[in-house]
Amino acid sequence: MTTPRALDAAQPFDFEARARSEVERERTLKIGIVGFGNFGQFLAKRFVSCGHDVIATSRSDYREVAGELGVGYYRDPDDFCEMHPDVVIFATSILSTEATINAFPVQRLRRNTLVADVLSVKQFPKQLFLQRLPKDFDILCLHPMFGPDSGKGSWKDLPLVYDKVRVGDDADRRERVERLLGVFEKEGCRMVEMSCEEHDVQAASSQFITHTVGRMLGTMELGETTINTKGYESLLSLRDNTYNDSFDLYYGLFMYNKNATAELSRLELAFSQVKAELFDRLHTLIRDDIFDEPTNRGGGRGAANAANASEEASDEENRAASKDRTFKDRLIDQVNSAGTIGGSVDEKEKRGGGGERRSEAEEGAEAKGR
Ligand code: NAP
Repeated sequence: MTTPRALDAAQPFDFEARARSEVERERTLKIGIVGFGNFGQFLAKRFVSCGHDVIATSRSDYREVAGELGVGYYRDPDDFCEMHPDVVIFATSILSTEATINAFPVQRLRRNTLVADVLSVKQFPKQLFLQRLPKDFDILCLHPMFGPDSGKGSWKDLPLVYDKVRVGDDADRRERVERLLGVFEKEGCRMVEMSCEEHDVQAASSQFITHTVGRMLGTMELGETTINTKGYESLLSLRDNTYNDSFDLYYGLFMYNKNATAELSRLELAFSQVKAELFDRLHTLIRDDIFDEPTNRGGGRGAANAANASEEASDEENRAASKDRTFKDRLIDQVNSAGTIGGSVDEKEKRGGGGERRSEAEEGAEAKGR
């Protein structure tokens, strides 16, 4: 007769639990974050919640906040590297990344470490990594196109742009890249594989413009109103998603993306055109006033285009009438006249063919066709 032993009885359960934890350990990455500011902490929090081991280093002392997030903190980059993370992610400001990498003790990392970055510009870190990192290191450039505000809750459908710049042939190394990308994929991100160069072209006309407009709105100090429209709510939300980011980040988007200057000029030009359209209408009225032109007064174009024979008399009448008309009255006349906004006497003459006046019917037909 066999005597049941407690140890034997517990074995199948222990075995399963151990096997499971073994698999989980294999799936778990030791992720090291360099730059534990706003975005570094935001990433670390999510990595920890996904079950990964996270360590960090930064210029400032973040020991306390790291402890609260369950992140191992090493103020000294040598100590950080000696912990041999599988992956090192640079989440430093764009402006400080070059100096940080130059001073970083990469020789203390494992020989085939995967190095990634999350900078909001991509061509610059790619070139930097290729120039400065040992040949044995794998390189993955990432851009989570969301931040602590826009990615506060779920990451579902938020874009993650990535470029596998250099990954060794070894199956383990390829799998390590997939495991890191898998963190974002499992969180629901929209995975977009794209070259760093293409990213910068597209980001200049989307992200940089978004940040510029958001900053302008923030600088205007827009406030809540009791009659917020949906459009206005969107402007406030754009401001909130961008204005809290550091100015270093915004400046980096401009300085380190060679396509940004052209986009800024396009934005400036568009603003000038819209403003010119508004002011042109006023200038026309004022100029007509200066030259005492009757055409936009009294009955507006209609009256001014009366039969040639009675034109002089009519002008006299208009002049007399205009004395009693306010600027606002005349502005309304201008808007009501033949559908042309801001059309000056000169413009009208140009369209009439060197001073020839056209009939109201002709002008009306043109206005309808517009
Ligand atoms: P940031 O102002 O761009 O960067 C702050 C980080 O840079 C901090 O860790 C800071 O370290 C470090 N740093 C700044 N100057 C430094 C210097 N002279 N030497 C060493 N380290 C320095 O703000 P962020 O929002 O945290 O962004 C970090 C990175 O993530 C940037 O490259 C940004 O483009 C990218 N990113 C940000 C977002 C976002 O929404 N915020 C989204 C996607 C990607 P200390 O705190 O220790 O001083």
